[in-house]
Amino acid sequence: MKRVLIVHYGEIGLKGANKEYFVKKLRKSMKMRLEKRFRKTFSIKYTLGRLLIELPEKFNEEEYVDVLRKIFGIKNFKFTYVGSTKIDKLGAQAWDNLPKFEVRPSNFRIKIKRSMNLPYKSAEAEREIGALMLNNGIDMKVKLKNPEFIVDIELFNDIGYFSYNTYKGQAGMPSNSQGKLVSLISSGIDSPVASFQMMRRGARVIFVHFHGYPYTDKDEMHQSKEIVEILSKYQFDTKMYLVPFGEIQKKIAVNPDVPAKIRTVLYRRLMLRIAESIAKKERAKGLITGDNYGQVASQTSENMFAIHEATSIPLFHPLISLDKEDIIKIAEKIGTFDISKLPCKDSCSMFMPKHPELKANIYDLHKIEEHLPIGDWIVSAIEEGEVIKF
Ligand code: ATP
Ligand code: MG
Repeated sequence: MKRVLIVHYGEIGLKGANKEYFVKKLRKSMKMRLEKRFRKTFSIKYTLGRLLIELPEKFNEEEYVDVLRKIFGIKNFKFTYVGSTKIDKLGAQAWDNLPKFEVRPSNFRIKIKRSMNLPYKSAEAEREIGALMLNNGIDMKVKLKNPEFIVDIELFNDIGYFSYNTYKGQAGMPSNSQGKLVSLISSGIDSPVASFQMMRRGARVIFVHFHGYPYTDKDEMHQSKEIVEILSKYQFDTKMYLVPFGEIQKKIAVNPDVPAKIRTVLYRRLMLRIAESIAKKERAKGLITGDNYGQVASQTSENMFAIHEATSIPLFHPLISLDKEDIIKIAEKIGTFDISKLPCKDSCSMFMPKHPELKANIYDLHKIEEHLPIGDWIVSAIEEGEVIKF
Protein backbone atom coordinates (compact mmCIF):
# COMPACT_ATOMS: atom_id res chain seq x y z
CA MET A 1 0.00 0.00 0.00
CA LYS A 2 1.15 3.53 -0.73
CA ARG A 3 2.44 5.40 2.32
CA VAL A 4 2.41 9.14 2.91
CA LEU A 5 3.95 11.09 5.75
CA ILE A 6 1.58 13.78 7.03
CA VAL A 7 3.11 16.65 8.97
CA HIS A 8 1.11 19.19 10.94
CA TYR A 9 2.69 22.46 11.99
CA GLY A 10 1.96 24.27 15.24
CA GLU A 11 2.22 27.97 15.86
CA ILE A 12 2.70 28.77 12.17
CA GLY A 13 -1.04 28.15 11.86
CA LEU A 14 -1.68 31.25 13.98
CA LYS A 15 0.23 33.48 11.57
CA GLY A 16 -1.75 35.80 9.35
CA ALA A 17 -0.53 37.26 6.09
CA ASN A 18 3.04 35.97 6.48
CA LYS A 19 2.09 32.35 7.15
CA GLU A 20 3.32 31.36 3.68
CA TYR A 21 6.78 32.63 4.58
CA PHE A 22 6.98 30.33 7.61
CA VAL A 23 5.53 27.34 5.76
CA LYS A 24 8.16 27.87 3.05
CA LYS A 25 10.90 27.87 5.68
CA LEU A 26 9.53 24.69 7.23
CA ARG A 27 9.25 22.95 3.88
CA LYS A 28 12.78 23.96 3.03
CA SER A 29 14.18 22.71 6.29
CA MET A 30 12.30 19.39 6.00
CA LYS A 31 13.46 18.90 2.44
CA MET A 32 17.09 19.66 3.25
CA ARG A 33 17.16 17.44 6.32
CA LEU A 34 15.44 14.48 4.68
CA GLU A 35 17.52 14.70 1.53
CA LYS A 36 20.74 14.96 3.50
CA ARG A 37 19.87 11.91 5.56
CA PHE A 38 18.36 9.64 2.90
CA ARG A 39 20.31 10.84 -0.17
CA LYS A 40 17.27 11.04 -2.41
CA THR A 41 14.89 13.73 -3.60
CA PHE A 42 11.70 14.43 -1.68
CA SER A 43 8.79 16.47 -2.89
CA ILE A 44 6.69 18.08 -0.21
CA LYS A 45 3.09 18.97 -1.00
CA TYR A 46 1.22 21.61 0.96
CA THR A 47 -2.51 20.97 1.17
CA LEU A 48 -5.14 22.22 3.58
CA GLY A 49 -2.66 23.23 6.26
CA ARG A 50 -0.70 19.97 6.12
CA LEU A 51 2.56 18.93 4.52
CA LEU A 52 2.46 15.63 2.66
CA ILE A 53 5.46 13.58 1.61
CA GLU A 54 5.28 10.37 -0.37
CA LEU A 55 7.33 7.69 1.34
CA PRO A 56 9.45 5.15 -0.53
CA GLU A 57 8.15 1.58 -0.75
CA LYS A 58 10.57 0.44 1.94
CA PHE A 59 11.49 2.84 4.70
CA ASN A 60 12.76 2.68 8.24
CA GLU A 61 10.26 4.52 10.41
CA GLU A 62 12.73 5.05 13.27
CA GLU A 63 15.22 6.78 11.00
CA TYR A 64 12.55 9.17 9.76
CA VAL A 65 11.41 9.84 13.30
CA ASP A 66 14.97 10.71 14.25
CA VAL A 67 15.19 13.32 11.48
CA LEU A 68 11.72 14.78 11.94
CA ARG A 69 12.04 15.10 15.71
CA LYS A 70 14.88 17.58 15.19
CA ILE A 71 12.97 19.91 12.89
CA PHE A 72 11.50 22.98 14.54
CA GLY A 73 8.01 24.05 13.51
CA ILE A 74 6.59 20.51 13.35
CA LYS A 75 3.80 19.94 15.85
CA ASN A 76 3.23 16.29 15.00
CA PHE A 77 3.62 13.76 12.20
CA LYS A 78 2.34 10.36 11.22
CA PHE A 79 3.13 7.62 8.73
CA THR A 80 -0.19 7.08 7.00
CA TYR A 81 -1.52 4.51 4.57
CA VAL A 82 -3.28 5.87 1.49
CA GLY A 83 -6.74 4.30 1.49
CA SER A 84 -10.22 4.67 0.11
CA THR A 85 -12.77 7.38 0.91
CA LYS A 86 -15.52 4.74 0.94
CA ILE A 87 -16.07 4.05 4.61
CA ASP A 88 -16.56 0.28 4.42
CA LYS A 89 -13.52 -0.15 2.21
CA LEU A 90 -11.41 2.18 4.35
CA GLY A 91 -12.46 0.28 7.46
CA ALA A 92 -11.38 -3.02 5.89
CA GLN A 93 -8.03 -1.51 4.87
CA ALA A 94 -7.49 -0.14 8.39
CA TRP A 95 -8.29 -3.59 9.80
CA ASP A 96 -5.91 -5.36 7.41
CA ASN A 97 -3.01 -3.11 8.32
CA LEU A 98 -3.42 -3.06 12.11
CA PRO A 99 0.00 -3.09 13.79
CA LYS A 100 1.23 -6.21 15.57
CA PHE A 101 1.02 -5.36 19.23
CA GLU A 102 3.62 -6.54 21.70
CA VAL A 103 1.14 -5.81 24.44
CA ARG A 104 -2.42 -5.49 23.22
CA PRO A 105 -3.99 -2.17 24.35
CA SER A 106 -7.15 -2.65 26.35
CA ASN A 107 -9.16 0.11 24.69
CA PHE A 108 -9.34 2.06 21.42
CA ARG A 109 -11.25 4.52 19.32
CA ILE A 110 -11.54 5.62 15.71
CA LYS A 111 -10.83 9.31 15.18
CA ILE A 112 -11.78 10.99 11.92
CA LYS A 113 -10.96 14.43 10.55
CA ARG A 114 -12.51 15.14 7.18
CA SER A 115 -13.07 17.79 4.53
CA MET A 116 -16.38 19.55 4.92
CA ASN A 117 -17.98 18.47 1.65
CA LEU A 118 -18.11 14.71 2.26
CA PRO A 119 -21.64 13.24 2.40
CA TYR A 120 -21.49 11.77 5.93
CA LYS A 121 -20.69 12.95 9.45
CA SER A 122 -17.39 12.07 11.15
CA ALA A 123 -19.12 10.55 14.18
CA GLU A 124 -21.20 8.22 11.98
CA ALA A 125 -18.15 7.07 10.06
CA GLU A 126 -16.24 6.54 13.31
CA ARG A 127 -19.04 4.34 14.63
CA GLU A 128 -19.17 2.35 11.41
CA ILE A 129 -15.45 1.60 11.33
CA GLY A 130 -15.41 0.95 15.10
CA ALA A 131 -18.20 -1.61 14.68
CA LEU A 132 -16.27 -3.28 11.87
CA MET A 133 -13.20 -3.61 14.12
CA LEU A 134 -15.29 -5.06 16.96
CA ASN A 135 -17.02 -7.53 14.62
CA ASN A 136 -13.66 -8.62 13.26
CA GLY A 137 -12.54 -9.33 16.83
CA ILE A 138 -10.16 -6.49 17.74
CA ASP A 139 -10.55 -7.57 21.39
CA MET A 140 -10.43 -4.05 22.89
CA LYS A 141 -13.11 -1.93 24.50
CA VAL A 142 -14.18 1.34 22.94
CA LYS A 143 -13.01 4.36 24.94
CA LEU A 144 -13.58 7.82 23.50
CA LYS A 145 -11.59 9.84 26.05
CA ASN A 146 -7.85 9.13 26.30
CA PRO A 147 -7.90 5.71 24.66
CA GLU A 148 -4.69 3.67 24.62
CA PHE A 149 -4.92 3.06 20.89
CA ILE A 150 -6.27 5.34 18.15
CA VAL A 151 -7.02 4.51 14.54
CA ASP A 152 -6.48 7.96 13.10
CA ILE A 153 -8.17 8.87 9.82
CA GLU A 154 -7.94 11.99 7.67
CA LEU A 155 -10.49 12.06 4.90
CA PHE A 156 -9.99 14.31 1.91
CA ASN A 157 -12.14 14.44 -1.21
CA ASP A 158 -10.41 11.62 -2.98
CA ILE A 159 -8.21 9.89 -0.39
CA GLY A 160 -8.62 8.48 3.10
CA TYR A 161 -5.33 8.50 4.99
CA PHE A 162 -5.13 6.24 8.03
CA SER A 163 -2.45 5.66 10.64
CA TYR A 164 -2.00 4.21 14.13
CA ASN A 165 0.52 6.43 15.84
CA THR A 166 1.07 10.18 15.94
CA TYR A 167 4.56 11.34 16.87
CA LYS A 168 5.06 14.62 18.69
CA GLY A 169 7.46 17.09 17.06
CA GLN A 170 9.59 19.84 18.62
CA ALA A 171 7.00 22.53 17.78
CA GLY A 172 8.51 26.07 17.87
CA MET A 173 9.23 28.02 14.71
CA PRO A 174 11.14 26.82 11.62
CA SER A 175 14.94 27.10 11.54
CA ASN A 176 16.24 30.34 10.11
CA SER A 177 12.84 31.99 10.09
CA GLN A 178 14.23 34.68 12.41
CA GLY A 179 17.51 36.62 12.39
CA LYS A 180 20.93 35.62 13.66
CA LEU A 181 21.92 35.64 17.33
CA VAL A 182 25.26 34.99 19.00
CA SER A 183 25.14 32.59 21.94
CA LEU A 184 27.71 32.61 24.75
CA ILE A 185 28.20 28.94 25.38
CA SER A 186 30.15 27.46 28.27
CA SER A 187 30.62 23.76 28.88
CA GLY A 188 27.97 23.94 31.61
CA ILE A 189 24.34 22.87 31.68
CA ASP A 190 22.50 26.13 31.13
CA SER A 191 23.87 27.85 28.03
CA PRO A 192 23.34 24.85 25.70
CA VAL A 193 19.69 24.78 26.77
CA ALA A 194 19.37 28.56 26.31
CA SER A 195 20.81 28.26 22.78
CA PHE A 196 18.43 25.43 21.98
CA GLN A 197 15.43 27.42 23.19
CA MET A 198 16.26 30.32 20.88
CA MET A 199 16.97 28.00 17.93
CA ARG A 200 13.57 26.52 18.60
CA ARG A 201 12.08 29.97 18.13
CA GLY A 202 13.63 30.17 14.67
CA ALA A 203 16.88 32.02 15.42
CA ARG A 204 20.02 31.12 13.53
CA VAL A 205 22.57 30.73 16.33
CA ILE A 206 26.31 31.39 16.11
CA PHE A 207 28.28 30.13 19.12
CA VAL A 208 31.07 31.78 21.09
CA HIS A 209 33.06 29.94 23.71
CA PHE A 210 35.70 31.58 25.92
CA HIS A 211 38.40 29.15 26.94
CA GLY A 212 41.20 29.31 29.44
CA TYR A 213 43.79 27.35 27.47
CA PRO A 214 46.81 27.24 28.09
CA TYR A 215 45.88 28.01 31.71
CA THR A 216 43.34 25.20 31.67
CA ASP A 217 43.66 21.94 29.78
CA LYS A 218 41.80 21.39 26.51
CA ASP A 219 39.04 19.25 28.04
CA GLU A 220 36.75 22.18 28.55
CA MET A 221 37.11 23.33 24.95
CA HIS A 222 36.44 19.79 23.70
CA GLN A 223 33.42 19.56 25.92
CA SER A 224 31.94 22.77 24.54
CA LYS A 225 32.68 21.63 20.96
CA GLU A 226 30.88 18.34 21.59
CA ILE A 227 27.90 20.27 22.91
CA VAL A 228 27.81 22.54 19.86
CA GLU A 229 28.06 19.51 17.62
CA ILE A 230 24.87 18.12 19.21
CA LEU A 231 23.11 21.47 18.86
CA SER A 232 24.26 21.79 15.23
CA LYS A 233 21.94 18.92 14.35
CA TYR A 234 19.01 21.27 14.91
CA GLN A 235 20.05 23.95 12.40
CA PHE A 236 22.10 24.37 9.23
CA ASP A 237 25.68 25.56 8.84
CA THR A 238 26.73 26.08 12.43
CA LYS A 239 29.67 28.35 13.22
CA MET A 240 31.55 28.43 16.52
CA TYR A 241 34.13 30.95 17.72
CA LEU A 242 36.70 29.67 20.22
CA VAL A 243 38.10 32.73 21.94
CA PRO A 244 41.17 32.64 24.22
CA PHE A 245 40.25 34.31 27.50
CA GLY A 246 42.79 32.98 30.01
CA GLU A 247 45.38 35.65 29.32
CA ILE A 248 42.87 38.45 29.85
CA GLN A 249 41.68 36.85 33.08
CA LYS A 250 45.24 36.52 34.28
CA LYS A 251 46.03 40.16 33.52
CA ILE A 252 43.01 41.22 35.55
CA ALA A 253 43.84 38.82 38.39
CA VAL A 254 47.43 40.04 38.82
CA ASN A 255 46.53 43.73 38.53
CA PRO A 256 46.91 45.21 42.04
CA ASP A 257 44.42 48.00 41.20
CA VAL A 258 41.58 45.54 40.61
CA PRO A 259 39.92 44.36 43.84
CA ALA A 260 39.67 40.56 43.77
CA LYS A 261 35.98 40.45 44.57
CA ILE A 262 35.01 42.41 41.45
CA ARG A 263 36.86 40.15 38.97
CA THR A 264 33.90 37.96 38.07
CA VAL A 265 31.81 40.93 37.01
CA LEU A 266 34.71 42.35 34.97
CA TYR A 267 35.22 39.01 33.20
CA ARG A 268 31.54 38.86 32.32
CA ARG A 269 31.48 42.44 31.04
CA LEU A 270 34.42 41.61 28.81
CA MET A 271 32.82 38.43 27.53
CA LEU A 272 29.73 40.39 26.54
CA ARG A 273 31.77 43.08 24.80
CA ILE A 274 33.76 40.52 22.79
CA ALA A 275 30.56 38.67 21.89
CA GLU A 276 28.96 41.97 20.84
CA SER A 277 31.90 42.62 18.55
CA ILE A 278 31.47 39.19 16.99
CA ALA A 279 27.74 39.85 16.60
CA LYS A 280 28.49 43.07 14.70
CA LYS A 281 30.88 41.19 12.43
CA GLU A 282 28.27 38.50 11.80
CA ARG A 283 25.39 40.98 11.49
CA ALA A 284 23.67 39.23 14.37
CA LYS A 285 20.98 41.15 16.22
CA GLY A 286 21.48 40.02 19.81
CA LEU A 287 23.28 37.82 22.34
CA ILE A 288 22.03 34.75 24.17
CA THR A 289 23.21 33.68 27.62
CA GLY A 290 22.19 30.89 29.97
CA ASP A 291 21.73 33.33 32.84
CA ASN A 292 19.22 32.35 35.44
CA TYR A 293 17.92 34.81 38.00
CA GLY A 294 19.69 34.46 41.33
CA GLN A 295 21.33 31.11 40.55
CA VAL A 296 24.97 32.15 41.10
CA ALA A 297 26.79 35.24 42.39
CA SER A 298 26.94 36.90 38.97
CA GLN A 299 23.17 36.64 38.66
CA THR A 300 21.94 38.91 41.45
CA SER A 301 19.87 41.82 40.12
CA GLU A 302 22.67 44.23 40.97
CA ASN A 303 25.34 42.19 39.19
CA MET A 304 23.20 41.52 36.16
CA PHE A 305 22.56 45.24 35.94
CA ALA A 306 26.30 45.94 36.20
CA ILE A 307 27.20 43.25 33.65
CA HIS A 308 24.61 44.20 31.06
CA GLU A 309 25.57 47.83 31.27
CA ALA A 310 28.73 46.93 29.31
CA THR A 311 26.84 46.48 26.05
CA SER A 312 23.96 48.04 24.18
CA ILE A 313 23.01 45.06 22.03
CA PRO A 314 19.79 43.19 22.99
CA LEU A 315 20.43 40.30 25.39
CA PHE A 316 18.26 37.21 25.49
CA HIS A 317 18.16 34.99 28.57
CA PRO A 318 15.52 32.38 27.81
CA LEU A 319 16.18 30.47 31.07
CA ILE A 320 15.91 33.48 33.34
CA SER A 321 12.96 32.19 35.37
CA LEU A 322 13.32 28.42 35.10
CA ASP A 323 14.23 26.13 37.98
CA LYS A 324 17.43 24.13 37.63
CA GLU A 325 15.44 20.88 37.58
CA ASP A 326 13.45 22.06 34.57
CA ILE A 327 16.61 23.16 32.78
CA ILE A 328 18.16 19.73 33.39
CA LYS A 329 15.08 18.00 31.97
CA ILE A 330 15.45 19.95 28.71
CA ALA A 331 19.22 19.28 28.64
CA GLU A 332 18.51 15.56 28.98
CA LYS A 333 15.97 15.66 26.21
CA ILE A 334 18.23 17.42 23.72
CA GLY A 335 21.20 15.24 24.68
CA THR A 336 23.62 17.82 26.10
CA PHE A 337 23.28 16.93 29.78
CA ASP A 338 25.63 13.93 29.81
CA ILE A 339 28.44 16.10 28.47
CA SER A 340 27.63 19.21 30.51
CA LYS A 341 27.56 17.33 33.81
CA LEU A 342 31.13 16.04 33.42
CA PRO A 343 33.39 17.87 35.83
CA CYS A 344 35.90 20.10 34.12
CA LYS A 345 37.83 23.19 34.98
CA ASP A 346 36.43 26.01 32.93
CA SER A 347 37.75 29.48 32.41
CA CYS A 348 35.14 30.75 34.85
CA SER A 349 36.43 28.82 37.79
CA MET A 350 39.91 30.08 37.05
CA PHE A 351 41.27 33.24 38.68
CA MET A 352 38.06 33.47 40.66
CA PRO A 353 37.82 35.38 43.94
CA LYS A 354 36.96 33.41 47.07
CA HIS A 355 34.23 35.91 47.96
CA PRO A 356 32.75 37.48 44.84
CA GLU A 357 30.95 40.81 45.00
CA LEU A 358 27.18 40.37 45.07
CA LYS A 359 26.29 44.02 44.46
CA ALA A 360 28.72 45.48 41.97
CA ASN A 361 28.63 49.22 41.49
CA ILE A 362 28.98 50.51 37.93
CA TYR A 363 30.75 53.73 38.94
CA ASP A 364 33.52 51.70 40.57
CA LEU A 365 33.65 49.41 37.55
CA HIS A 366 33.99 52.35 35.16
CA LYS A 367 36.85 53.75 37.25
CA ILE A 368 38.70 50.44 37.17
CA GLU A 369 38.08 49.82 33.48
CA GLU A 370 39.44 53.28 32.56
CA HIS A 371 42.90 51.95 33.35
CA LEU A 372 42.56 48.71 31.43
CA PRO A 373 43.30 48.34 27.67
CA ILE A 374 39.85 46.92 27.01
CA GLY A 375 39.62 47.92 23.33
CA ASP A 376 42.93 46.16 22.58
CA TRP A 377 41.86 43.06 24.47
CA ILE A 378 38.67 42.79 22.44
CA VAL A 379 40.52 43.15 19.13
CA SER A 380 43.24 40.63 19.99
CA ALA A 381 40.79 38.11 21.49
CA ILE A 382 38.91 38.00 18.20
CA GLU A 383 42.09 37.96 16.12
CA GLU A 384 43.56 35.09 18.10
CA GLY A 385 40.26 33.24 18.17
CA GLU A 386 39.56 30.25 16.00
CA VAL A 387 36.40 29.66 13.98
CA ILE A 388 35.13 26.14 13.43
CA LYS A 389 32.18 24.94 11.39
CA PHE A 390 29.80 22.04 11.80
P1 ATP B 1 26.21 27.57 32.34
O1 ATP B 1 25.58 26.37 32.94
O2 ATP B 1 25.69 27.94 30.99
O3 ATP B 1 27.71 27.53 32.39
P2 ATP B 1 26.05 28.92 34.82
O4 ATP B 1 24.79 28.64 35.53
O5 ATP B 1 27.27 28.13 35.17
O6 ATP B 1 25.76 28.78 33.26
P3 ATP B 1 27.69 31.26 34.81
O7 ATP B 1 28.89 30.42 34.86
O8 ATP B 1 27.60 32.44 35.71
O9 ATP B 1 26.36 30.46 35.02
O10 ATP B 1 27.53 31.80 33.34
C1 ATP B 1 26.45 32.59 32.95
C2 ATP B 1 26.40 32.64 31.43
O11 ATP B 1 27.59 33.26 30.92
C3 ATP B 1 26.44 31.25 30.81
O12 ATP B 1 25.16 30.67 30.78
C4 ATP B 1 26.98 31.54 29.44
O13 ATP B 1 25.97 32.08 28.59
C5 ATP B 1 28.00 32.63 29.74
N1 ATP B 1 29.32 31.99 29.93
C6 ATP B 1 29.90 31.62 31.08
N2 ATP B 1 31.10 31.08 30.87
C7 ATP B 1 31.32 31.12 29.54
C8 ATP B 1 32.38 30.71 28.67
N3 ATP B 1 33.48 30.14 29.14
N4 ATP B 1 32.23 30.90 27.35
C9 ATP B 1 31.09 31.46 26.85
N5 ATP B 1 30.08 31.87 27.61
C10 ATP B 1 30.18 31.71 28.94
MG1 MG C 1 29.03 27.89 33.98
